[in-house]
Amino acid sequence: MSYKPKIAPWPTEFSGKIPVSEMFLSIQGEGRFAGTPALFIRMKYCNLGCAWCDTRFTWDEEKIEEGALLTIPETVERALEIMSKSSSPKHETHVVITGGEPMLHQDRIPAMIDALIDAGFSFFEIETNGMYVPSPAMISRINWWNCSPKLSNSGLYTMKTRVAAALATIIATHKCDFKFVIQAPKDIDEMEKIFMPPIPADRVILMPECVTPEVQSRIMPWLSEECIRRGYRFSPRLHILAWGNERAR
Ligand code: SF4
Repeated sequence: MSYKPKIAPWPTEFSGKIPVSEMFLSIQGEGRFAGTPALFIRMKYCNLGCAWCDTRFTWDEEKIEEGALLTIPETVERALEIMSKSSSPKHETHVVITGGEPMLHQDRIPAMIDALIDAGFSFFEIETNGMYVPSPAMISRINWWNCSPKLSNSGLYTMKTRVAAALATIIATHKCDFKFVIQAPKDIDEMEKIFMPPIPADRVILMPECVTPEVQSRIMPWLSEECIRRGYRFSPRLHILAWGNERAR
């Protein structure tokens, strides 16, 4: 039976507001900045609906949560309230803009970033599936693009997830990594066939698909060896090792 995600439709008009699913302070769990203190701003809605998605509460018609539709000052206020409970300095804490697919909201994100800079934050990462061409306003503000194009292990037809113009624009920033979720060695072959080029090898990060520490531990040895053999980076998923599939940590 083929996989058909039930994607909740998103409004065409947000009146300048950000649909925040959740916001929390933790550590960046994945990628180049794994371990860095991070304030996560998770936005609602996604255009894809991957089979193994661990944030279905942002997009799945049957699981989507209400969240909060916040003005930009309200978003900053909530960020500052969260930071006030920690001694983590704002300038050392990365703001990780995530989802869902946050690029659905790229018309409002630059103004949000500007307001967060005024409030003392200075480094902004975004996590995107790489299907939307970033605007110049986004490119000038995002410090690091964590782009995660989807392979067929997501249950989706991969060629439709490969948007050449979006990938080219993100690669041209030179401030990006491309994280691929790997279940089996055949996924790495598929990635190389479909996404390389345009993605250069020194920008590839491979990461185990898992929601438990046990599965991550099982995949990690052979995937690390494949990374060494093929010349890619490996990323753990620290939040899974620390807290399993628990929410908001
Ligand atoms: S693109 Fe990301 S948020 Fe969207 S369904 Fe896939 S894993 Fe989930």
